[in-house]
Amino acid sequence: MKKDYSFSYVLIPLVFLLVLAGGLLFQRAGIQYDTAEKPGDLQLLPQASVNVANYFPNKPVEVLVLLDPQEADTKNLNENLKATLDSMRVKYVRFSITSGQAPVLTNYQTVIIATSNLSVLESQLSSILDWVGNGGRLLFAIRPLPSSAFNSISAAVGIISGPGNDNLIQASGVEYKTDFMVGGKGLILESEDLEHTSFPVQLSKDAVVHMVSADVSKTPLLWQYNYEKGRIVFINTDRFGSKEGRGVSSAAYSLLYDVFAYPVINTSVFFLDDFPSPVPAGTNDLITSQYGMDIDHFYTNVWWPELQALAKKYNYKYTGVVIETYDDNVIPPFTKQLDTDRHQYFGRLLLVNDGEVGLHGYNHIPFCLAETGVNKLFDYPDWPTTEAMQLSAYELFGFTKEILPGNKFETYVPVSNILCSDARLWLPAVLPNIKVIASVYINDPQKLHYEQEFTEASDGIIELPRIISGYIPDNFVKWTVINELTLHFVNSHFAHPDDVLSKDRGNQQTWDLLRDQFEDYLKWLYSSAPGLRSMTAKQGAVAVQRFARLAVDAQMVNGAYEINLGNFYDEASLMLRTTRKPISIEGGKISEISSDLYLILASKSKIVVTFEGETP
Ligand SMILES: [Zn+2]
Repeated sequence: MKKDYSFSYVLIPLVFLLVLAGGLLFQRAGIQYDTAEKPGDLQLLPQASVNVANYFPNKPVEVLVLLDPQEADTKNLNENLKATLDSMRVKYVRFSITSGQAPVLTNYQTVIIATSNLSVLESQLSSILDWVGNGGRLLFAIRPLPSSAFNSISAAVGIISGPGNDNLIQASGVEYKTDFMVGGKGLILESEDLEHTSFPVQLSKDAVVHMVSADVSKTPLLWQYNYEKGRIVFINTDRFGSKEGRGVSSAAYSLLYDVFAYPVINTSVFFLDDFPSPVPAGTNDLITSQYGMDIDHFYTNVWWPELQALAKKYNYKYTGVVIETYDDNVIPPFTKQLDTDRHQYFGRLLLVNDGEVGLHGYNHIPFCLAETGVNKLFDYPDWPTTEAMQLSAYELFGFTKEILPGNKFETYVPVSNILCSDARLWLPAVLPNIKVIASVYINDPQKLHYEQEFTEASDGIIELPRIISGYIPDNFVKWTVINELTLHFVNSHFAHPDDVLSKDRGNQQTWDLLRDQFEDYLKWLYSSAPGLRSMTAKQGAVAVQRFARLAVDAQMVNGAYEINLGNFYDEASLMLRTTRKPISIEGGKISEISSDLYLILASKSKIVVTFEGETP
């Protein structure tokens, strides 16, 4: 029989070689990217002094916050409550319960009790309850301490048995019983960072329980209860007063109303820190054993293509921030990085995939002088002078401009999220292209990192903090995300390429496992937050600026909800909580997020929402 020597056997390796050569040629010749703004891309607004708090001078003060300014246990709660109400554009007055005077309630729609010491208010409690009974709204922002004062009103907040004088219990974790917070529905989050001291309570069947503890006690942690013609929302823990818990306060507050709207940012941003950067040389045990390749090939052929596939699948964008060298030199002159292939290759890939390239550092040394003592705490060398830091910043800017011409580099991420206050002052002058600084939302206990709010700073810089990091969000991280989705409708995340190599940050897990857990997070995020807009850092900053300037005045008028927006430029996003189903909207679009939360995209400065059913 004649043997058939097919030519195709020769063709296969030949085609393979040709493809490889083509790929290399493509990489060398450079991936083409387009730096032109796309039509419809909104830009940052020029700096301006805008009046947000008093834009609507006739907007009444709605809320009376009762607090004890000397009470150490509620200091954090009150700071965060203030930030939360400001973010929601709620007008309030803070009243010290130790002032010796009785608060006058008649002028307000809502009272927030933000002290745990009800005994001081004992003589006022019956008049507060009478006021609620006549249609007032009352939020207990923190679980009160056991006292005869609290016992005297416990039935009115929906408790049928439980609080004695001395019987607080420890409870842990949270379980969402309703979808009152974005992304919470059905979740049980056990975490040692969510420990509560709570009243063990039995509630009236008329109480609507939104959250219980995740442990066997299933202690109710947050419920609402109608008292006569008014409504009470009760928080039965001392754990929600931290910055991570602001979303609970915002949800609890809005539950007091049948219809309530507040502005949100509506953006989802993913940062890749130290990307592009020089590749760590050599091999890594985890990578070699799993993929049989060195670190450089792993990033190029596995890590990046898989991250890119996730971005395509879930339709989000990356913002990478450049490190020029890992040299620890802090004394000028600063040698230019000569090996630019990798920076160029990944920088262009970020841009062609609708991402953004920002600045991180010439090297990885935080901008702090010796006198601050900060760098030492993190085992970094100190910069000898301000000029040295500034020269390194120039070098980084020059380098990135050279490798990615035409790009603006408007976003800066401080290395290790550390930026000393003097450097924060000079940075925008030294790098005038920088319009956005992205550090962290939640600080470490020593407050050593550059902590931010989502806002427009007085020097015009947009502060766009990152809320969470890493490929494996644990339960406390998820708790934080749910809070920020509810308060700001924001996801802001960062990861490092070398998290994969780090035994700590990667939890000694293989990349396959990290990627799968990260994908689980993405799946949950985008299914929990329908309508959440995927953006680069710069685009996110545009949204933060509109949000930070927006003034809101809203009320029911003949059964329709009218929202008037001040400092409205072109678009705005709002969260609407409503017990009634919206049927029409003027001035924007509305879409459902959960059973009582809706996202409004405003296209005009006046929005009118109407609802199903009879006007109550
Ligand atoms: Zn870094």
